[in-house]
Amino acid sequence: MLTPQQLDRAVGAVTASAAGDALGAPYEFHASVLPPTPITLHAAPPWELGEWTDDTSMAVPILQALARHKPLDDARTLAAIVGEWIGWARDAKDVGLQTRAVLAGIRHVTEDDARTSALAVHRKSGKSAGNGSLMRTGPVALGFLGRSEGGETDALAAAARRVSELTHHETDAGDACVIWSLAIRSAILTGALELRAAVSALPVDRAALWNARLDAAEAALPWELHANNGWVVGALQCAWSAIVHASSLRETLELAVRSGNDTDTVAAIAGSLAGAVYGAAAVPAEWVEVLHGWPADEFRAFGAAELAELVHRAVSDR
Ligand SMILES: [Mg+2]
Repeated sequence: MLTPQQLDRAVGAVTASAAGDALGAPYEFHASVLPPTPITLHAAPPWELGEWTDDTSMAVPILQALARHKPLDDARTLAAIVGEWIGWARDAKDVGLQTRAVLAGIRHVTEDDARTSALAVHRKSGKSAGNGSLMRTGPVALGFLGRSEGGETDALAAAARRVSELTHHETDAGDACVIWSLAIRSAILTGALELRAAVSALPVDRAALWNARLDAAEAALPWELHANNGWVVGALQCAWSAIVHASSLRETLELAVRSGNDTDTVAAIAGSLAGAVYGAAAVPAEWVEVLHGWPADEFRAFGAAELAELVHRAVSDR
């Protein structure tokens, strides 16, 4: 049973990520935006005011599975999530290049087929560490909020990597999802920001590599980091820089968007961890009001209230 504060932080991990996604959408593929130019939530075709993009849309099926109390360490659950992604991608406004290639290569909707397709895409290009699995990892931690510390963190680390590998074969993508998901879990439970502790869950050589990457991110502002934030490492560094240089949730998301290029994804990633620290109550009300996206359609609203309802169901009785 979570406390009201823990529950608010659990909702925040999802809602703040969606808010960052919608805030960054109009700025995607543009140059950095430096202060004092304001960052504003606004429409920019094809995106409506407050509409989230693929980042949140791909997180929703993971959240829906958890809301039905399906375990993420189960091939049937993962197959169902992949099936939802394939259905979403059919008429989505945008799908990341790597994710589109992997989903198109799946013949039977199974975890094994998804992993095989992800490996084939990796082999074809020699790399597969796009930011598309980190951007959707926010809800994964919600399935592992039990108190038995050791077992739950090991299980979360394994599940985060497994969900990542449905589309992203490369180790960097899986590592990024592991450390971000562990940090989200501890932030929800304790309110503390403990990414370095999460990094120590990786093998020693990988942990050293990631600690050096975090050092570099902390030493620079998001727009001073390399523009290659379509790469999972660049995206995580920009998101981490935004988090450590901000003193509020709003400022975190604005700093993340200032990085330029893959702005919606960097802000969605930053929002998943920052939201778990600051809580859903810290998401500006004027953003919450207009937040929406797939699976919304002309007959059905799907916004912040629907996301919060799914989180409540996901964490109940855990
Ligand atoms: Mg996007």
